[in-house]
Amino acid sequence: MSRPRILSGMRPTGPLHLGNFLGALDNWVRLQDEYECFFTIVDWHALTTDYADPGPVRDNVLEVAADWLAAGLDPARSTLFVQSQVPEHAELHLLLSMVTPVSWLERVPSYKEQQQQLAERDLSTYGFLGYPLLQTADIVIYKADAVPVGEDQAPHVELTREIVRRFNHLYGPVFPEPRTLLTASPRIPGTDGRKMSKSYGNVVLLKDPPDVVREKIRPMVTDPARKRRVDPGDPEICPVFDLHKAFSTRDTQEWAAQGCRTAGIGCLDCKGALLDHLLHRLEEIHARRPEFASRPDTIWDVLRDGARRARAAAAATMEEVRAAMKVGYGSGGR
Ligand code: SF4
Repeated sequence: MSRPRILSGMRPTGPLHLGNFLGALDNWVRLQDEYECFFTIVDWHALTTDYADPGPVRDNVLEVAADWLAAGLDPARSTLFVQSQVPEHAELHLLLSMVTPVSWLERVPSYKEQQQQLAERDLSTYGFLGYPLLQTADIVIYKADAVPVGEDQAPHVELTREIVRRFNHLYGPVFPEPRTLLTASPRIPGTDGRKMSKSYGNVVLLKDPPDVVREKIRPMVTDPARKRRVDPGDPEICPVFDLHKAFSTRDTQEWAAQGCRTAGIGCLDCKGALLDHLLHRLEEIHARRPEFASRPDTIWDVLRDGARRARAAAAATMEEVRAAMKVGYGSGGR
C-alpha cells in the first residue's frame, strides 16, 4: 500500500539554526519513515519578501541542502528539490489565481503581520499578497495528503483547503484536501534571549563546530536576578532553561531547575550541562555536514534528481488541471 504523501518547504535564507532544526527539520527526518515526502527549497517564496535584495540565493540553497542531508533527510526515500526547478508550480499558481478571491488572501494573518514586521520593505506587491496561493500550488500540485507545519502556518493550510474545495466545485474533483500535521515547535530563544532569528544575530547554526557553539552559549543571557552565584533564580524566565527543555534529559532539567532556585549551581554549571546535551544531539550533524559541504556537485545532483522526480508528479497533475479548466490541448496542441 502506498504511503500518504506530504510536502513541506523552507526558504533559502542561509544555513539553518537550532530554531529551524527543532521547528521543522528534525520532525521531517522522522516523517520519512511514515510518509512519501516531498521537501522543497522555496526560492520563489524568498523573493516575495526579498525581491529588492535577493542575496546569494545559489549559495543559500547549497547551505540549506547541506543541512538537510547532514540532519538525515535521505534522497533515496524523500524527494528533495528546489521550487523554481519545477516551473509547473508557477503555472498552477496562475491558474489557481483565477478562482481565488483577493479577500481570502488579504485575511491570511501573516499578510498584515509581516507587512508590519518588515515595515522597511515595500510589501504592497502582488507577489507578496499571493504567496499563500503559491504555497497552495506547491502543496496541491503533488496532491499531498498532509502538510507538516507549525501553528503559525496552519491558516495557510486552511486556505489551501478552501481553495481546493472551490476548485473541485467548479471543475470536478482534481485535488484532495490536505490535512494539517501540526508540529510542536518548542520556544527556541537566541543567545540574547529573544526568539532565535538570523535578523537578530543571535543564532546557533547547525554547521557551527562544537567550539563555536560553546563560545555562543557561554555568554548567553540568563535570569537577571542571578547577579551573583549566591542569588537564587527562576528557570522559567531563563532562556538557557528553554534550551534545556528542548535538548536535555528530564533528570538534567530537574537538576538545573532545582539548582537554579536554590542557588545550588552557578549559571556556568547550568550552561555546561546544556552544552553536553546539545552537542551530543548535534554530534551526527557535525560529523556528516563537512563532507556534504565539500561536495557541492553531489548536492546539485541530489537536487536535480529530486526536481526530475517532482516534475514527473507535477506534470501529471497539470495535465488534469489543464483538462479540467479547458486549457489542455493534448500533445498535438502543446
Ligand atoms: S542556573 Fe540555569 S536556569 Fe538558572 S538562571 Fe542560570 S542559566 Fe538560567
